[in-house]
Amino acid sequence: MKVAILSRNARLYSTRRLVEAAIARGHEVKVLDVLRCYMNITSHQPGIHYRGEKLEVFDAVIPRIGASVTFYGTAVLRQFEMMNVFPLNESVAVTRSRDKLRSLQLLARKGIGLPVTGFAHNPDDIDDLIAQVGGAPLVIKLLEGTQGIGVVLAETKKAAESVIQAFMGLNANIMVQEYIKEAGGSDIRCFVIDDKVVATMKRQAPEGEFRSNLHRGGQASLIQLTPEERSTAVRAAKIMGLNVCGVDLLRSNHGPVIMEVNSSPGLQGIETVSGKDIASSIIQFIEKRIKLLEHTPEKS
Ligand code: ADP
Ligand code: GLU
Repeated sequence: MKVAILSRNARLYSTRRLVEAAIARGHEVKVLDVLRCYMNITSHQPGIHYRGEKLEVFDAVIPRIGASVTFYGTAVLRQFEMMNVFPLNESVAVTRSRDKLRSLQLLARKGIGLPVTGFAHNPDDIDDLIAQVGGAPLVIKLLEGTQGIGVVLAETKKAAESVIQAFMGLNANIMVQEYIKEAGGSDIRCFVIDDKVVATMKRQAPEGEFRSNLHRGGQASLIQLTPEERSTAVRAAKIMGLNVCGVDLLRSNHGPVIMEVNSSPGLQGIETVSGKDIASSIIQFIEKRIKLLEHTPEKS
């Protein structure tokens, strides 16, 4: 197969590992900086240009699109889809997963466990909003935040009001969420490929911090999932329409609750902790899908 990886930086651990795994399995692979791809979107023969030349035809494309380039990145991914290139994750699913609010609404509709979460626009409604999620302590999240930045724990109602007012004053979109204290500053990353949890890790926040992101100094270790956690992670991936994703959940008193579903999950932490070759599993999944597509007659 010929595989394209959309990534801003070929030296990133996850990108390097995917390149290695593809080559090890006998494939051709090219890393493309998504921002250097451009295209004529109205051509009857859709194509993509890259640094002055038309790109060759690929069998599959692996999007590793950072949050800051979601709009352009998913547009390029969509163009690959127009060219019948198999996307590891589809552009609509990537776009969907990047909107935290939309994701939680879709998961809620299907009965997935979530922290009680509120959303509002008008500062006059803050009191009722806080009451809706059960009062302080509570968590306030910037919808645009990643890597734990923009996630605030407000210990008291007064603190919550001030933070919410401040964010609203800046015209930022925020969610207000029940604080899952019993998670003890840890969360669980479930790495899902093709409706199976292939690896898991627990991330523990450092002392005095409630956010367990590795970028915030969290420590990763092995953990065994309960059957309920496993099925929650798989169902969440399905609802989001993602073939490969990282499902983050917390252990709450009311069962597993989902924080978010990441469509470009990092490989470094999970491969290190689990000792598994996740990159190779991703490539093998693509091989399987391509084979299936080859044997399916084309729809007219
Ligand atoms: P980001 O997308 O920026 O990583 P998250 O919503 O995943 O933001 O939050 C970052 C971390 O903060 C989580 O991994 C978790 O450890 C902690 N956290 C987030 N929301 C809650 C909550 N409602 N209760 C307890 N801890 C939370
Ligand atoms: N950006 C990565 C992710 O959210 C973080 C690294 C990791 O947790 O493996 O998937």
